[in-house]
Amino acid sequence: MSARVFLTIDAEPDCPPYLDGWRGMDEGAPRLLDLLAERGVPATVFTTGETARRYPGFVARLVEEGHEIGCHGMTHRSFRRLDAGEAEEEIRASSQVLREAAEVVSFRAPYLQLPERHLPLLEAYGYRLDSSRGRYKPAHWRPAEPSTLRRVPASMTSSWLRVSPWLRDPILRALPDPVVLFVHPWEFVDLRDADIPWDCRLGTGAHALRSLASVLELYQASGARFARMRALLESPPGAP
Ligand SMILES: [Zn+2]
Repeated sequence: MSARVFLTIDAEPDCPPYLDGWRGMDEGAPRLLDLLAERGVPATVFTTGETARRYPGFVARLVEEGHEIGCHGMTHRSFRRLDAGEAEEEIRASSQVLREAAEVVSFRAPYLQLPERHLPLLEAYGYRLDSSRGRYKPAHWRPAEPSTLRRVPASMTSSWLRVSPWLRDPILRALPDPVVLFVHPWEFVDLRDADIPWDCRLGTGAHALRSLASVLELYQASGARFARMRALLESPPGAP
C-alpha cells in the first residue's frame, strides 16, 4: 500500500456544469474541514478565484489549519474551450486572488481538462506542479509535452470513494504511489434528488462524509502519511 497519500479538494460551485449554487461551500466545506481537523489530515485545496472571493473565511481557515491552497482557475470554465487570451485571464485573475492569501504553486484545471498548449502559461505564472490529469482518463495516456511542471495525476474519480468498502478498499489498496484522491465540498450535502448524473448524486450527504472518514482511517491504519502536494516538489525531479 502506498506510503504517501494526497487528499485534494476542488473548492468550486455545486457540481458544475449541471448546477450553479453554493450549498457545498456553505454547508459541505465546514463539515469536510472539521473532519480533516479531527483526523489531523492536511489537504491540498484547489480553489477557484470566484470561490475565494465569495468565501474569504474558508480561505482564511485553510491557511490557519495548514492546508495548501492550489489554483482551480477563476470561473471553472473548461480550458479546452478557451483561446490563449481567455486562458491567460483565467490564470492571471485566479492567481491574483489566491496569492493574496498564500503562496500558490499547484494547479488543477476544471474538469481535469488542460490542453498541453496551456502549460507554458502555468510556468509563466509561477506554477510548479500540475494535477490536471486523471489516471482513469484517456488523456492521461497521451504523450506529455516537456515542461518544468511536476505532473501528478489524480488516482481515481471522486464518486468511487462513496461506493461500498468491499468494492472500494481493494482498489484503494492497489493504487500506485503517489496516491492522489479528490473530493468536492458539494458531495457532502445531500444531492440525491438533484438533476445531475447518477454517479454525482450517488451517496452524497452524510454518507459521503462517513465514506471519506473510513478512507482516511484505512490509510492511517496502514501507516500511510497524508501530505500537501507541494511536498512532492522537495523530492528529486525523477521521482513521480
Ligand atoms: Zn472542479
